[in-house]
Formats: sequence, structure tokens, C-alpha cells
Amino acid sequence: MQLNVLQELRHNLGSVTTYDVTEPSVPIDGSKLNGVSGTLTLLRTDRGLLAMLKVTASESERCARCLVETDCSVEMEFEEEFIAVVDPNTGARVHLSKDEEEFRIGPDFVLDLREPIRQYGLMAEPLKPLCRPDCAGLCPSCGSNLNEGTCGCAPTVDERLSVLAGIDVTDEKGK
Ligand SMILES: [Zn+2]
Ligand SMILES: [Zn+2]
Repeated sequence: MQLNVLQELRHNLGSVTTYDVTEPSVPIDGSKLNGVSGTLTLLRTDRGLLAMLKVTASESERCARCLVETDCSVEMEFEEEFIAVVDPNTGARVHLSKDEEEFRIGPDFVLDLREPIRQYGLMAEPLKPLCRPDCAGLCPSCGSNLNEGTCGCAPTVDERLSVLAGIDVTDEKGK
């Protein structure tokens, strides 16, 4: 997720270069994105390069219902301008504002995508990951994983729900 962009910085304003991006694993806080793949487009701006990244990846998350580790697919897309701290043609240091939120391209002309990927990766994490859409979750009494079969507990809530469901069906037919 780092690439030398000296050539791209020497292009004319508005020049666009597109790359295929693949990365087996990118760490983000306490987790990682696996199988990152997509495209990176670099647009030459007056201050550096506008990096437009669009990737898909998978991330290991705990299912919100049954807590089993599960691979979730994640889509991430961002546009961030990277400011060159050195003029690519003259090698002169560029005077920059002290805005620490800005992404920079250092004197080595390496564009480092790891930090924006970390930031946007955190935002792209699913709020309620599920191992499968119909995950049955855990038994509220004994904690058994109900995807693996029913436990010995007496059904409580479920029984009432099925009674209600029965009434609903009868009403529908009666209309
Ligand atoms: Zn689950
Ligand atoms: Zn149970």
C-alpha cells in the first residue's frame, strides 16, 4: 500500500493514472483487512496527487448474534489529496501549512495509503456483522449456539411468537 509516485508528480496538472491494487492483508486497529483488491486512480493536482481508491476486502468480525468469528465483506472508497512536501522537478522543499490532518508525500516521493485505509477501514466496518442473514443466535438461557441445533431449554419467547404468528395467518386467510 505504498508506491513511489515521482513519475506521477512530474505529469501535467490533471493527468490521471490508474492502477490495479491487490494486497493480501492491511492492518487496521485491532483487526485487518484481507484480500484487498480494487483500483487506485491518481490525479495530478497543483499541490500533489488526488488519490481515489475503491476496493473490496474481507474482514474477520464476530457475528452480532452468535459471536462466532465470521468473514464479512467490506467495500471501501475514498478520495484524499496527498500533498508533496518536495517539488518533484526542482527538489525544493515546499512551504506547507501546519495542517496535520493532511496526507503528505514525503521527500522520498512515496505515497503511503496505509493511514487512509486504516481510517476509512474503521468506518467501513459493518455495524452489525452476521455470520449469515438468518443466524439463529445464542439461546438466552444456556448460551448454546442455536445454529448448531436446538438446546434442551424450554422454548419461552419463541412459543409465544409462534402463537402470535398463527393468529396472524388465520386473520390473513379470513379477509
Ligand atoms: Zn451468527
Ligand atoms: Zn438453551
